[in-house]
Amino acid sequence: MSIFGNSIFGHNATDLSTTAPEAAPAGSPAAKVAKTDAEWREELTPEEYHVLRQAGTERPFTGEYWDTHTAGVYQCRACGAELFTSNEKFDSHCGWPSFWAPLAEGNVRYIHDRTLGMDRVEVRCAACDSHLGHVFEGEGYGTPTDQRYCINSVSIRLVPAEDPQVSGPGDDS
Ligand SMILES: [Zn+2]
Repeated sequence: MSIFGNSIFGHNATDLSTTAPEAAPAGSPAAKVAKTDAEWREELTPEEYHVLRQAGTERPFTGEYWDTHTAGVYQCRACGAELFTSNEKFDSHCGWPSFWAPLAEGNVRYIHDRTLGMDRVEVRCAACDSHLGHVFEGEGYGTPTDQRYCINSVSIRLVPAEDPQVSGPGDDS
């Protein structure tokens, strides 16, 4: 009988809560990413930095994904966390990529935003706290949630389902 050893290992589970954030694998939705402003400036393009780190908004109908129907997963442009999928993307005709739900609650976080004289709910990446866009509710779109996650193309990156290994920048679709 080896019942005595088991209770010793039993409390390993509670110790997991003290795991350092940087120990989590990169790209995991639960991983917390903390970088300095200088590091973000270095890693991101000026437009990415403006939207992701300064809560800017790209002009409508100018972004890469507002009219994209490719199947795949949309990652955070800043940290790579998986945020949305093409399954929840829908044609809102508002000029920005629109989703009726995130890939999973917990992958994004919400902040009440009263800037610009509007009353909106900002959507941020839960892993790196970068700005993604806003979520609106009750607009009458025929989607399961009646919500519209209005997301900047520059805040996300599509990883197509057919070809997860993107080979190069020469993608002219
Ligand atoms: Zn992120």
